[in-house]
Amino acid sequence: MTMTMEQEIKIDTNFYKVTQIRHLTEHAFVLTLPKSRFAFRAGQHISLSIQGDYQSREYSIYSGENDHALEILVKEVEGGYFSPKLKYLKPGELVEVHGPFGKFSIDPKKRESHRHVFIASGTGIAPFHSMVKTYPHLDYQLIHGVRYASEAYERTSYDPQRYLLCTSRETTGHFHGRVTDYLSATEFDQNTAFYLCGNSDMIFDAMEILKGKGFSREDVTVEVYF
Ligand SMILES: Cc1cc2nc3c(=O)[nH]c(=O)nc-3n(C[C@H](O)[C@H](O)[C@H](O)COP(=O)(O)OP(=O)(O)OC[C@H]3O[C@@H](n4cnc5c(N)ncnc54)[C@H](O)[C@@H]3O)c2cc1C
Repeated sequence: MTMTMEQEIKIDTNFYKVTQIRHLTEHAFVLTLPKSRFAFRAGQHISLSIQGDYQSREYSIYSGENDHALEILVKEVEGGYFSPKLKYLKPGELVEVHGPFGKFSIDPKKRESHRHVFIASGTGIAPFHSMVKTYPHLDYQLIHGVRYASEAYERTSYDPQRYLLCTSRETTGHFHGRVTDYLSATEFDQNTAFYLCGNSDMIFDAMEILKGKGFSREDVTVEVYF
């Protein structure tokens, strides 16, 4: 019997010792755990909790499907309950990982046939990092919206020809303005699959813009962070 990808992915719970916290900016960091003990599809997320703490939060998997570590990219939210605690974890401390979850991934039927346009705000770039690492031959364009260029997290991970930075509060990006301003001003091939990830305001505005350009809901895959 042929198994579908959906059947192969099993949801599991595992404890991991933190390997490293890699600080990218004052408020953003990559939390590294040992190699994933579960199979996941690039784009999926996990639910994470800290040993001894009753709360959990969702995080997209930042590392690729075959990487030797399981990574997440986190922005410390000022006044937030969970993300500041993650930032101060030390190597060797235990976290609990539940997952993987979600359907935010590349449709295998479209992988070769379509151009993939990834649209991210802030840490919404995380699932695209996983996709690009997993599928190195993917025909993609990544449009990343941030306030300042310093928030262009690990931009050297991406082919510079395929990475476009939109900075809304300074002019150091490729485009000065929000990702939605860039989308409004840009024409896309009809054979494009769009993926939106980040805050809900960006996602709803982007969906309206794409609808106005003639794309249907089936052309757009969405992951809302908050
Ligand atoms: C499917 C999914 C995947 C996610 N993946 C990631 C990820 O890869 N990286 C990541 O950093 N976060 C991700 N998040 C958000 C994450 O789950 C938490 O909401 C975030 O870390 C804040 O948690 P907190 O306890 O610190 O803040 P809380 O105390 O829960 O909330 C404080 C406030 O912060 C807002 N908020 C949440 N996230 C952000 C943000 N990034 N920037 C600004 N304000 C925010 C909330 O709306 C809330 O109003 C994801 C959320 C979902 C649903």
